[in-house]
Amino acid sequence: MTSVSYEDMLKRALSSLPRKPLQSERLKIPSADVIVVGNRTLVRNFREIASIINRDPEHLLKFLCKEAGSAGTLKDDIAEIHGRFDRSTLNKLIERYVQNFVLCKVCMRPDTHLKKYGRFLYIECDACGASSPIISR
Ligand SMILES: [Zn+2]
Repeated sequence: MTSVSYEDMLKRALSSLPRKPLQSERLKIPSADVIVVGNRTLVRNFREIASIINRDPEHLLKFLCKEAGSAGTLKDDIAEIHGRFDRSTLNKLIERYVQNFVLCKVCMRPDTHLKKYGRFLYIECDACGASSPIISR
């Protein structure tokens, strides 16, 4: 058997693998639409992002500002953050927020809501019913 035919065989085998159902359940978060004006960074689709991940935009903004070591305000659909941040930095922070506050710690699905018990915040999963505390640093 030549190496070429083996590769062909392998390719065929890989392409016939069924797609994992997990991929279709993955949250599609739009990339942050960022413009820098002076020394402010505007995220123009901020409210859209918050609504897709189903979280309070104020809570998301508070997290981003804390992680970025900055301050910011919400103006209608737009978040205005002090300082200059590029799109990839903000996308990474939003991704981190999703990991911490949106995805279920047990089944990793995004169908969750936040609930406060005393001083502690929990992610409660609507898919598997798990309730996981959020450890704030
Ligand atoms: Zn779950």
